[in-house]
Formats: sequence, structure tokens, C-alpha cells
Amino acid sequence: MTVERHIKRLPADTTGKIAAGEVIERPVNAVKELLENALDASASRVSISVEEGGRRSIRVEDDGTGIPAAELALAAENYSTSKIGLISDLDRITTLGFRGEALASIRAVARLTIRSRDASEEIGREIRWRGEEVLGDEPAVMKPGTTVIVEDLFHNLPARKKFLSSDASEIRRITSLVQSYALAWPEVSLSLSHNGREILSYPSCSFAERVEMVFGSSVFPGLRAFEGSDGGMRVRGYTTLPSVTRGNRSMQFLFVNGRLVRDRLLGHAVRQAYHSLIPGDRFPMT
Ligand code: ADP
Ligand code: MG
Repeated sequence: MTVERHIKRLPADTTGKIAAGEVIERPVNAVKELLENALDASASRVSISVEEGGRRSIRVEDDGTGIPAAELALAAENYSTSKIGLISDLDRITTLGFRGEALASIRAVARLTIRSRDASEEIGREIRWRGEEVLGDEPAVMKPGTTVIVEDLFHNLPARKKFLSSDASEIRRITSLVQSYALAWPEVSLSLSHNGREILSYPSCSFAERVEMVFGSSVFPGLRAFEGSDGGMRVRGYTTLPSVTRGNRSMQFLFVNGRLVRDRLLGHAVRQAYHSLIPGDRFPMT
């Protein structure tokens, strides 16, 4: 029996979902992308509001540079980014994003609204999409900055929707993400609310103050600051005394150039610094 096998190109709609599948598996993935975009846009304030663990809606509002009205339609297209122009730019990326895929990936699995005003323009613009279909496109009266709203996440992917955990556990992931970014960006005021109730609210402050806000005033006095530089690198942070440890790494937050990393090598380096001062199965909060 001969089986016919032709190579076919998948419809764009499908490739969109596959690509998106790599990035957006849960509400927290969308929150991370939107928060990074706001930080890349030099926002001094970012407010995040989530409904029903993020499956109903995620709204991220910033007072950053905004998107020029003429470019708004392009922002949600795949591989469209304002952050890299030339390939050589890859060597000196200073922003958190650069692939130009995040908004397109989110749009492929949700209803997306972007409302934005560039500071040099008098009025903003709002576009609403469901997938690639434009549901609305109109002028928006607003202050400079950007608001992105993601609704009905995974409406077109029932299997992924079913795979989500309870609202409480999705919001826990989101809270932990916002807390970790809060540590790396103390000068930015950040807030998070769930179903209309505020869960986190961090005003702009110093690094030390932010560490105290995130870890709490009972843990903070037990932390020790460290700082150093070598070979063009600078390191700063806080870590616990050997008497205060955890059974896992969940209270370790490591950032490289403002980007949260879960890197084994770095985690290991921190652990090694304590040498035999703490038992092998315990981890500091760092
Ligand atoms: P990337 O961040 O990798 O460039 P995204 O899909 O996340 O890709 O965003 C596409 C583009 O949309 C960005 O390069 C930026 O120009 C614009 N953009 C997205 N979010 C914001 C925002 N909050 N403020 C200003 N510009 C934004
Ligand atoms: Mg981005």
C-alpha cells in the first residue's frame, strides 16, 4: 500500500498557534510579556489587573513612550519589533524583548486590545482583534502610554484552557512574577490586582526599600547586602544569613541586566558561596 505524503505548508493560522504555544501556555506568560514591554517602554508606573486567574482578562497599563498611531496595527504582527533594526544590533540588546513575537503570539490565542498614545501625538488609537480579524479601530482619548487588554485566553484552544490550574494557583504564579520583577525594577511603581482587589502595590523606591517590601519586614532584617565588581561586571543583591534557609530555590531571584533568569550555574554559584555553612539540601533566599 502506498501512502500519499505530500509536504504541505501549514496555514498561517496554525503556525501562529504553534509558535504561540511555545510562549503562551498560561496567563503568567502573557503577563510577563506585557510587563516586559512596559518596562522596555521606560514606564515609571505599571498597573496590572487580572480577572479569574487571567483566563477572563489581563490588563496591563503603563505610562511609557507609547506606540505611534501609524505603527499600532503593526505592533501585533509577527516578527515586528521596534527594538532591533539590524542584525548587528543583536550584539547589544538593551531591552527585554526583541523578537517581535509576543503580541502576535498572544493575539493568536485570545482577544487582544491595544490602546496607545505616543507622547508627541494629541490623541491615541485603539485596535481590537480576535485572532487576526480586526474588530475595531478608533481614536482613543487618553494620556500618553499604553494599555493592553487580553481577554478570553485560549478561547480557541480548549485543550490548553482545560490544562490551566485553579484561579488561585494561576494568580500565585502571576504574583510571584510581579514580585520578582519588582526586585529588579525598584524605581518603577508596580501594582497588581485580582478581581478588583489589590494584591500588590509597590511605590517607586530604593533597591533596599523594595527588597524589604517584597520579602517583608520580618525577613528583611535577616538579609545581608552584598556588592562587588570585576571584569566589567557589577553584582549587587541581598542574601540570607546561613541560619535562614529554604528547602528549595523558590525564594531565589537572580537577574542579569534586568532579565529574570533561572540559571543552574548562577544558582550553583550562590549556593557555593555558602560552602558548608548550610546543609546540602537547603538554599538561601537571594
Ligand atoms: P518585542 O517586545 O520583542 O519587540 P512585542 O510583540 O512584545 O515584541 O511588541 C512589538 C512592538 O510593539 C515592540 O517592539 C514595541 O515597539 C511595541 N510595544 C509593545 N508594547 C508596548 C508598550 N507597552 N509600550 C510601547 N511600545 C510597545
Ligand atoms: Mg515584547
